Amino acid sequence: MSLVVVGSVAYDSVKTPHGKVDRMLGGAATYISLAGSYFVPVKLVAVVGDDFAHEDRDLLASRQVDLEGLDRIPGGRTFFWQGVYSADMNDRATQRTDLNVFAGFNPKLPETYCPEPYLFLGNIQPSLQKSVRAQMPSLKLTGGDTMNYWIEDFRAELLETIREWDFLLINDSEARLLSGERNLRRAAASILEMGPHTLVIKRGEYGAILFRRDMHFVVPGYLLETLIDPTGAGDCFAGGFMGYLAGRGIGAPQSDTDIAELRRAVVYGSVMGSFCCEQFGVNRFRTLRRDEIDARYQEFATCMAF
Ligand code: AMP
Repeated sequence: MSLVVVGSVAYDSVKTPHGKVDRMLGGAATYISLAGSYFVPVKLVAVVGDDFAHEDRDLLASRQVDLEGLDRIPGGRTFFWQGVYSADMNDRATQRTDLNVFAGFNPKLPETYCPEPYLFLGNIQPSLQKSVRAQMPSLKLTGGDTMNYWIEDFRAELLETIREWDFLLINDSEARLLSGERNLRRAAASILEMGPHTLVIKRGEYGAILFRRDMHFVVPGYLLETLIDPTGAGDCFAGGFMGYLAGRGIGAPQSDTDIAELRRAVVYGSVMGSFCCEQFGVNRFRTLRRDEIDARYQEFATCMAF
């Protein structure tokens, strides 16, 4: 059983108080796939140009990410994003977005991907997210991400899309925008009326909250000693969360046992987000081992017990 991941594969230029990298592998689907690959086999769906480097392809392949769905457009250039972080790294400004081949992205799944049971839809146009879901008739669990742009300017399309999802994973400002509520508890209650039975609200360095109609569960952010580059942390959270559930064979939760698995999935999400911030871009995934992930998960269990 594999997890299908759809979204951007990019080159990023990032400046943080710790330094600047002009062009490095990035993109939401890259981070989600790398993080998820520690838990379950991943099949990637994305588009790149012919400037996409062999070594970047090799990094994904070294994590056994299936690249049959990575479309390479001859003569095209890969999506490019440039961002700069504030001194405390809680805010970032986008300085440049060149959609390039991403502008024509219209994902058509390879035949081998269609029967898979797990789907994570990264932040792309809601109608494309919907069309991918429609290509997968045997789904056990579907969820995804979105962003302000789609919430504000494509609201009807977005609502129609997430109506079919099991879970939505967004940050706190997006949850407020989507629901029109400032209070997160109210925001969550309103979003849980839109279709998904499970909502995860990411709160950057403050962790995340899992909401269902009858419960919520708060997970702190891991207290890193040195935070180098937060780019991709939210996506790695998604990869850890969804990867864990897929690896355990969990579908829409039916029992208290499944809810306990959801809680664990949120902790693994927080763990993967924290590793991502330890080095620039995807660099931490060049050396990260599964035993380090499990050790940090145990540390969470100790820190959170009372
Ligand atoms: P995160 O820090 O988790 O929000 O993810 C940052 C990643 O998202 C970067 O690697 C970017 O390449 C990618 N990204 C930035 N803007 C967009 C966009 N408009 N659509 C899709 N991916 C994006």
